[in-house]
Amino acid sequence: MKDETKCLHAGYTPKNAEPRVVPIVQSTTYVYDSTDDVAAVFDDPTKSLIYSRFANPTVMAVEEKIAALEGGVGAMCTSSGQAASLLSILNICRAGDSFISLSEIYGGTVNLFAFTLKKLGIECIFVDKNATDEELDNAFKPNTKAVFGETIANPALSVLDIERFANLAHKHGVPLIVDNTFATPVLCKPIDFGADIVVHSTSKYMDGHALQVGGVIVDSGKFNWENGNFPELVEPDESYHGLSYTKTYGKMAYILKARMQLMRDFGVYPAAHSAFLLNLGLETLSVRMQRYCENALTVAEYFKKSDKIESVTYPGLPGDAGYELGKKYLKGASGVISIVIKGGRKAAVRFMDALELASNEVHVADIRTCVLHPASETHRQLTEEQLKACGIEAGMVRFSVGLENINDILEDIEKGLKAI
Ligand SMILES: *Cc1c(COP(=O)(O)O)cnc(C)c1O
Repeated sequence: MKDETKCLHAGYTPKNAEPRVVPIVQSTTYVYDSTDDVAAVFDDPTKSLIYSRFANPTVMAVEEKIAALEGGVGAMCTSSGQAASLLSILNICRAGDSFISLSEIYGGTVNLFAFTLKKLGIECIFVDKNATDEELDNAFKPNTKAVFGETIANPALSVLDIERFANLAHKHGVPLIVDNTFATPVLCKPIDFGADIVVHSTSKYMDGHALQVGGVIVDSGKFNWENGNFPELVEPDESYHGLSYTKTYGKMAYILKARMQLMRDFGVYPAAHSAFLLNLGLETLSVRMQRYCENALTVAEYFKKSDKIESVTYPGLPGDAGYELGKKYLKGASGVISIVIKGGRKAAVRFMDALELASNEVHVADIRTCVLHPASETHRQLTEEQLKACGIEAGMVRFSVGLENINDILEDIEKGLKAI
């Protein structure tokens, strides 16, 4: 199946007289005929369902759809994108370990990596995307367990050189984890370029309608966890009656460890109803992404012509820093544009407050056009230095282009520009 078809059909195939639409299985638990049957499920939880803290049929249908879209062997949904990023790291790092992350990533992920994981004894080593091969090699330590980056960074909108960072990670015997939130598998499939694990905030384009927060982890099934660096995936897990994930589950070792160990213990699984809504978003993902890309390119070109705008960042614009990498990795540059308005913070706020159609909200990738001022909103907890490292300036506005008629969007922008 091609993407458009997978969006509609992957993950759920009704049999004779079953519901056309994936049903909402609103139940915490599942009934068995005998104690032996229940015991057997505990012995191998992949065989059947135990409890909706780790698996639920509605959520599983969505997991299968997303795994199919990304080209992975399995996926696990989480209650937020933050939970997906957290578990993707905790699944392979423990206290005393480190991992490498590109510095241009989502502000919430910076908090998680730089502060909260540090408290748990896990060090995040931030690297610049333009660092030389030698500088990147030198960033690795003997305890480094992963490399992390975003396909299209939020909000810097730089494009990750996935092959380069996959090769680097593999040279050091660790996986590349890619946050593919902004591109979605419709515009980029990181696994095709060597990524081992893909994570998403499904709250953005996948849901698409600003309905519910969620996340997902996808396992490519390609990484060799038995290379000596990941004993926790290979050696018996005493919390799971001595099971070895790689020996028992082969290619599915990473994603099943995440489910059976971390999801069991942290319990950040989405509700069936949330997964049902996410599935509705996914059904139209392919069609929506095309329109986001079209509208955003037109808006980016419009901003580019305005003398009130100091700079426009959109990887779909020729000459943009991400344009060449975008041509290689992306089928479209997605719907988010960063602009820096001349006159700094004040001018940016004036522009935003004059918009009528575009709403001022802490979100991107809504079906409706929306705007955000990173320096005073999402990234306000970061220091000036961290802001710079994330590629954020005081006059920067993040403009998330929606699916309204393009002429209505442009008219609104004109109102904003006049108010500066
Ligand atoms: C929003 C976002 C997250 C966090 O996701 P939530 O669903 O809000 O927890 C992570 N990564 C990126 C790139 C995001 O845009």
